[in-house]
Amino acid sequence: MNMQHPRPAVRTTCPYCGVGCGVLATPDGAGGLSVAGDPRHPANKGRLCVKGSALGETTGLDGRLLAPQIDGQEAGWDQALDLVARRFSDTIARHGPDAVAFYVSGQLLTEDYYVANKLMKGFIGSANIDTNSRLCMASSVAGHRRAFGTDTVPGLYEDLEEADCVVLVGSNLAWCHPVLYQRLAAAREARGTRVVVIDPRRTATCDIADLHLALAPGSDATLFNLLLAEIERRGLVTESPESLAEALAAARATLPSATGLPHSTIRQFLDLWCGSERVVTVYSQGVNQSDSGTDKVNAILNCHLATGRIGRPGAGPFSVTGQPNAMGGREVGGLANMLACHLDIENAAHRDAVQGFWGSPRMADTPGLKAVDMFRAVEDGRIKALWIICTNPAVSMPEADRVARAIKGCDFVVVSDMIARTDTARLAHVLLPATGWGEKDGTVTNSERRISRQRRVLAPAGQARDDWRIIADVAARMGWGSAFAWDSPAQVFAEHAALSGVAVALGSDFDISDHAGITRQDYDALEPFLWPQSSRRKGGRFFGDGRFHTPSGKARMVPVVPRLPQPVSEAHPFRLNTGRVRDHWHTMTRTGLSPRLSRHLAEPFLELHPADAARLDLAPASLAEVSSPLGRAILRVLVTDRVAPGHPFAPIHWTGETAASGRIDVLVPGAADPVSGQPASKSAAVAIRPFKAA
Ligand code: SF4
Repeated sequence: MNMQHPRPAVRTTCPYCGVGCGVLATPDGAGGLSVAGDPRHPANKGRLCVKGSALGETTGLDGRLLAPQIDGQEAGWDQALDLVARRFSDTIARHGPDAVAFYVSGQLLTEDYYVANKLMKGFIGSANIDTNSRLCMASSVAGHRRAFGTDTVPGLYEDLEEADCVVLVGSNLAWCHPVLYQRLAAAREARGTRVVVIDPRRTATCDIADLHLALAPGSDATLFNLLLAEIERRGLVTESPESLAEALAAARATLPSATGLPHSTIRQFLDLWCGSERVVTVYSQGVNQSDSGTDKVNAILNCHLATGRIGRPGAGPFSVTGQPNAMGGREVGGLANMLACHLDIENAAHRDAVQGFWGSPRMADTPGLKAVDMFRAVEDGRIKALWIICTNPAVSMPEADRVARAIKGCDFVVVSDMIARTDTARLAHVLLPATGWGEKDGTVTNSERRISRQRRVLAPAGQARDDWRIIADVAARMGWGSAFAWDSPAQVFAEHAALSGVAVALGSDFDISDHAGITRQDYDALEPFLWPQSSRRKGGRFFGDGRFHTPSGKARMVPVVPRLPQPVSEAHPFRLNTGRVRDHWHTMTRTGLSPRLSRHLAEPFLELHPADAARLDLAPASLAEVSSPLGRAILRVLVTDRVAPGHPFAPIHWTGETAASGRIDVLVPGAADPVSGQPASKSAAVAIRPFKAA
């Protein structure tokens, strides 16, 4: 190892959560790197959480896929790409474009996402491209579009620091968006910001809460309807969005009992929210991952729209995304029901404009299959060729065993990944090695609409290639080379930026059109920036001027009749909540490589209330068998009053082929929100009993 000439730090972005922290990564010259927070990045200003600061421990070759494989045998790139292109082309020729699908990921860079979306929607001619972000924020997207006319996040992180009151709904910010939590905690210390946590669990975020509402699971829309009724009663309605009267009538008709909260606690919340001119309501998976998630989102948005508490410093609703590039995926239209640059797949003028820009032979003209339905279509044979990119649905989708069986039974499965033996990679006919964080070059967009560069620090491992290039190489082999002939991610970014100019002319909010002619040098030097950014409009908050992206220019309130989760049954009397832990990420393919990160919570567990544990005769640290009609998991019991009786919690991260591996998504049903298609991952009905070996 030559340590004589230390290399300069490279400014890049953390690949984990949606905060999107800037990272200074310094290669050690021996294939590894060290990291520090980037003091110049506006999202984190030098901070990193424990996951981000352990990035240097996760870039080794352990478990890496280093060469293409066909049916488990190493193959050359040409051979593998030829086979993928031929099988996809043959399937489309014989069964039509809707017989193929891509399932992609919020971990992809925007350039990768753009190329995948362009190939599927504009050249294959199907909208069967969906993403694991469907599991993360699809309800927010749908709620935004209903209320604002576009999928626009109105506010900025600094709003949390400028607010008088910050309400966190279904968001364990302390563990899932740690640096944003640190910013909020610092603001609270400095300014006395009031913090409210609305969550059935007493999470780590409650450490800074002035008020914790441990509401009944799924009753968020009830609570926000009560708030809207109170807003009206106090004469705080200052705006006149569309459907105001209907939304108020629905709110007035809402009864508080479904929340399970004492009247005095509800009153404290109403007083705090109504009494704070500058209030930010942050929400995340506890709201989105529900079979009425979109209504819950709109119940929150309604309160901000009625009071004009939106788009102003320190005021607004704020959806924080779980994944590092969920926002970038939305921008390129990487969901089955969207078109690039926030355009609408069901709008003929939008489709024509995108088709004209791409010069594409055929455009998808109806929404494709959303995640749950996509795997059902794989299961019943409607989808015969599936390409899974940078994600592990065999273990992370609801009904995971069923999804794994569906993938196994599919005629042709391609998996692009950096890891050789994920639960999904094991099921692939063709495995394509992709570059990982530290080796990739491109952009990501964080939860506040800030686009940052991820930069290459390390050489690609083995024969790994960038995802955008792999997809473009397949597109070329399918006969569309001239439309996919980029030399670099800079050229992909420039094309996306040029398309945003077309979209803006059609009313889109997404505008990065000044970057349309960006050179490679300027792309390499690109500083983090907020969109919109063009000569027409600079980044900042949306909607403070009272103008929205609807035909009338007014916001739309949605009358919400709250729906609670399906009742549990006698056979499965517990409602299982699922989520993340502080130090692991998704299925642990990276964080699992760091001994430091694994020390925090070393194994899968079931958080169980003491009363439940006593009733079930489950001692602390004993093993419980948790079962639903779909499967079972064996978990170590953690007895704690952080969860309510009847509402245990288990983390999502652990994987494996047996029940003892602690995998959880095998228990979760595929029931999804009817508007957004986002699965209800936090309310599986389960049975629990002491585990007894057979
Ligand atoms: Fe990475 Fe999120 Fe931690 Fe920032 S807060 S360092 S983006 S995991």
